[in-house]
Amino acid sequence: MSTKTFPGGVHPPEEKELSAHKAFERFPAPTTIVLPLSQHIGKASTPRVKKKDAVVPGQLIAEAEGFISAPIHSSIAGTVKSISREVNAGGFPKDAIVIIPNGEEEPAEPEYFPPLPLDTITPEQIRERVKEAGIVGQGGAAFPTFVKLTPPPDKEIDTVMINGCECEPYLTRDYRFMIERPEAIAEGLRLIMLALGVKRGVFGIEDNKPDAIKAMEAAVQGMEGIEVAALKTKYPQGAEKMLIKAVNGREVPPGKLPLDVGVVIQNIGTAVAIYDSIAKGEPQITAALTVTGAGIKEPKNLIVPVGTPITEVLEFCGGVTEDASKVIVGGPMMGVAQYDLAAPVMKATSGIVVLTKKEMRKQEETPCLRCGKCVDACPLHLVPTKLSRYSQLGRFEEAEELGVTVCMECGTCAFTCPANIPLVQWLRLGKQEVMKLQRERKAEQST
Ligand code: SF4
Ligand code: SF4
Repeated sequence: MSTKTFPGGVHPPEEKELSAHKAFERFPAPTTIVLPLSQHIGKASTPRVKKKDAVVPGQLIAEAEGFISAPIHSSIAGTVKSISREVNAGGFPKDAIVIIPNGEEEPAEPEYFPPLPLDTITPEQIRERVKEAGIVGQGGAAFPTFVKLTPPPDKEIDTVMINGCECEPYLTRDYRFMIERPEAIAEGLRLIMLALGVKRGVFGIEDNKPDAIKAMEAAVQGMEGIEVAALKTKYPQGAEKMLIKAVNGREVPPGKLPLDVGVVIQNIGTAVAIYDSIAKGEPQITAALTVTGAGIKEPKNLIVPVGTPITEVLEFCGGVTEDASKVIVGGPMMGVAQYDLAAPVMKATSGIVVLTKKEMRKQEETPCLRCGKCVDACPLHLVPTKLSRYSQLGRFEEAEELGVTVCMECGTCAFTCPANIPLVQWLRLGKQEVMKLQRERKAEQST
């Protein structure tokens, strides 16, 4: 078994043992459900229910608005309490449908789609089901999956990759899926390949999960054109560009997408959601996530109704410890720190990590040591030290020339920085300002 990788990257402590051995449990009964109308990249959905309406699990409650959008279905039986501005995991209030569940005593018949036959299904039926089921990418960006299955006609796709790296420390959701549902994942990949008319499918899995590699190898046995690639354990091995470089040696040029080099990438959780939408008719109304970190009393892997408040999920895991210091949605490298735990779990929430002070790195910032560690580590060959300096000084045109918009905000540079400079925050600011400049230039040109 050869292991492949990419140049650069870092090796943060993995910390996966806290939850890796915990099988998925179902979260029982939330007291409130908050479903933001924008849980995906693209246009927010449009509500199709009103206050006091009764809803059942799987019922369409908000329709997709345009091509890049996704519908939303109720994750529970209950009554619509309001359509109002509610805090979300991104930290900003957003329009959301709030549902008060009926409670466990009054379960309601779910409103799912009719299952479709796996043997005779057509590419068009797969795309349509993925669209109507409201599936969004589970790798963090929440891009509507239907759009990824509908590439522009001038793009020739020859490979589908399933990202099984789960390179973020602490998270074990994808690992548990590979151990518990390898056949569903393999079938999910086959359905994606069929939808795209592609003959080659590859699972990229980091070599710190040998049992997951074995499980997936067994599941794909006899499936034509599908292989499992063991990849070196290194952050950010699961970033799309790094995965493509490691698996088939192709370079995605700056500003381009995987489909520009003939590749479509999906996440393990997305493959499962696609399979479930077709084989069982389930819309995307649950989120699979890891709740972990030394700051949570009982780390778990959970299946949670979308819209469940984070605070209720933490309580179900025994609550936080006395020395808990920070709650992050997503992994510790790219996740978002939470200030209001009333925010809900969303379709693409992959984890909630509760860190203690001890687990958090020293934050005290010192001046740049000019050590160059951030430059050596950046997998995209950027110069983070200069880019962050330009952002701090407001010299955004120079940051643009040095390629700040290419930065994928992976946090690798900040992890290596001995001066604890918050490089990613500065890079993010630089990106936002440069993109604003670019929009202004475009607007000027068109007038
Ligand atoms: S955050 Fe940006 S600059 Fe830093 S390592 Fe990642 S891609 Fe490079
Ligand atoms: S790693 Fe930190 S201290 Fe070293 S050059 Fe980069 S920004 Fe400066």
